[in-house]
Amino acid sequence: MPFGDLLTELKGLPMLARYSLTLYRRRNGTVASARCFESCATVVEDKLCREVSKQFFEENMEVFFEEGTPSVCRYGGGFFGFLIPFTLSGADFCLVGDGVREETIDLWQLASLARSGDDAFSLLPYVESLCTASYEEVEEVAEQVRRRIELYRLPARHHERAVVAPPRATVGDEALQAVSQALEKLDRVTTVTACVAICCDTIVTAFQVARIAIALPDSDRKSFTATGVWGLPDELGTLSAESLQLFVAPDKVKKTVLWDGRMRAALPELRATVCTVFPLKAQGELLGFLALFDTDIQPNDALIISMLCGAMAGKLSTIDKDAARSKENALSERLMSLTDTLLQIDSKDLLYESILKIASELIDATQGSIMLIDKDGVGMQIVFTLGMTLNIARCLQLKVGKGIAGMVAKTGQPLLVNDVEKDSRVAMTNRLRFKSKSLICIPLKLKNKVIGVLNLSDKKNLRPFTHSDLMLLTSFANLASLMIERTEVLEESVRFEQLSVTDPLTGLYNRRFLKSRLEEELNRSARQGLNLTVIFIDLDFFKSYNDLCGHLAGDEALKLTADIIKESLREMDIVARYGGEEFCAVLPGTSKAEAMIVAERIRAEIENKRFPGESDIPLRRLTASLGIASFPEDGRTFNDLVHASDVALYEAKARGRNRIVAARTSSQPGEVLHEAPAPRAATQSNLAKTLDFNAYLEASLQSKG
Ligand code: GH3
Ligand code: MG
Ligand code: MG
Repeated sequence: MPFGDLLTELKGLPMLARYSLTLYRRRNGTVASARCFESCATVVEDKLCREVSKQFFEENMEVFFEEGTPSVCRYGGGFFGFLIPFTLSGADFCLVGDGVREETIDLWQLASLARSGDDAFSLLPYVESLCTASYEEVEEVAEQVRRRIELYRLPARHHERAVVAPPRATVGDEALQAVSQALEKLDRVTTVTACVAICCDTIVTAFQVARIAIALPDSDRKSFTATGVWGLPDELGTLSAESLQLFVAPDKVKKTVLWDGRMRAALPELRATVCTVFPLKAQGELLGFLALFDTDIQPNDALIISMLCGAMAGKLSTIDKDAARSKENALSERLMSLTDTLLQIDSKDLLYESILKIASELIDATQGSIMLIDKDGVGMQIVFTLGMTLNIARCLQLKVGKGIAGMVAKTGQPLLVNDVEKDSRVAMTNRLRFKSKSLICIPLKLKNKVIGVLNLSDKKNLRPFTHSDLMLLTSFANLASLMIERTEVLEESVRFEQLSVTDPLTGLYNRRFLKSRLEEELNRSARQGLNLTVIFIDLDFFKSYNDLCGHLAGDEALKLTADIIKESLREMDIVARYGGEEFCAVLPGTSKAEAMIVAERIRAEIENKRFPGESDIPLRRLTASLGIASFPEDGRTFNDLVHASDVALYEAKARGRNRIVAARTSSQPGEVLHEAPAPRAATQSNLAKTLDFNAYLEASLQSKG
């Protein structure tokens, strides 16, 4: 093969695009000590570099050749060059490559190159324009060129094949097989690392690629991290969405191109000569790229690799979605358990404390506060703080629309500030002294109405809060708002209950109101020297009425009884539902004897009233027993009078029910002023007066039988 052809073919390798190449051949019959190699072919890219390398290598070419392996050297001016010794068709050769320089320019070294009339500074712009490389990169290029030359040294058959159709120019069976195996494996993996490893290992073995990097999105999805997977440093840098476009621009994709200045500037840690970029795209979304360095990828190989990259991107997107889904599930489970915790709390202050504690733990914040908007919608109150004194915080005059939290309260939009001093959104507001400059303010909303703001600052590690902190806290804030509303409603209903004076079923006053009214009336009676009588009314065997006729009928009976009592009293009298089926009437200015008439009217009315389902109960009649006590003779206080009338009522029950018993001031049993009128079934009535209810029921059943 002519030397020129070998050189042209080598020069066609993209990784050698910047290099000048010179092929030296040993002169026939020369002795070892003399300059025995002469240049037989050359392609020059940069004259100065070539000149320097010529001086350097030609001096010692014999020594380099004897070494037998490629040599990479740094020489005057900070230039790099390599020399590859080889033997082909019985002749000795040295291939010299040069044309790149070290990153840093040493003026002293430059001065050594400066010719008469020139100085180091005059050379500077020229040297700066040269491509830079590291020692390792040049070594890698030299090694690859050596491998390439090896192909020419193979026996003729292989040699032919190598020249006409080098293995990587076609899609070899082995490569295809490796890729199809990789696709199968990809199907089964569940992690990004495994996914990347499978693809890159396959590319390395099937396509003899030695250096691979990959760029994948960060958690915020706005930036991309570039990582070396094979033959490159692990951490290569971060790319913005814009700088990512630089790599995946259509003119660069899947074609081997020079690692140009802009790419170099975007990823300065990555030193390369040429690169081939494969975008990672899934469902139209760009997830990053996979790039191969310093290898000339043939179009057919590129096709297969891009297929593999497509499958990898699809898998990465699935893994990502699965991770997002399980993250969401974990979050809802966490929120569920927090809901349980918060549901146990009925007091507002405890609730605020718990909300702030949970919120700070969720995002590792050490300071925070809860602010609630006043009813007027203008002012805001700090209701709980973490890491600052609540009393001081309570003194702050806060207004909706003013300050950072005020703005959040007004707009209803959550706010994540990385640096409170630099963020233009908050620059106009007064800056509190935070330990770290990052803070999060989340509106507390109920049905789109902002009720307050949850503020958190000072992350434990003093780093800024993240977007996922914001998302997490927003989900929790919805729950917190609901819980705040719940406790407010609870407290309100307790307050309402306390304020209410009537019993919802009968419309009569309730026991609490009765107490205060009776106490007022007692005071008045004492002042004015008037009588007052209390009548306690309790339905007889009401439990069994309920059981036999149903609860609804029971409710109806209670309402009818209430009506009867009300109608039997004067306007000025007070009547209350004292308990389940117990009523209490207060008759101011009424003596015991006068009250007895009223009591009898009530008893008789109840006995004669047709209550729903009444015929189903054993006595066929719903009746009531009444106990009476009067001021001042039976008691002077609410408790004494209630007690006295209760004792009388108990006696009425004991004596057979459906009757009235008045309290006695002495220790004698209560005076029965009105015996119950004889019921229609005399035997049953007598029994009822003397037996307890169970015995009575039995007797009634027997008499029926
Ligand atoms: P006694 O003759 O000794 O008074 O017997 P009793 O069954 O009436 O007395 P007890 O106190 O054992 O039962 C009262 C019953 O009143 C129990 C309950 O079922 C019923 N009750 C209490 N409040 C209500 C109510 O609001 N509606 C209905 N339907 N029933 C009630
Ligand atoms: Mg009772
Ligand atoms: Mg009763």
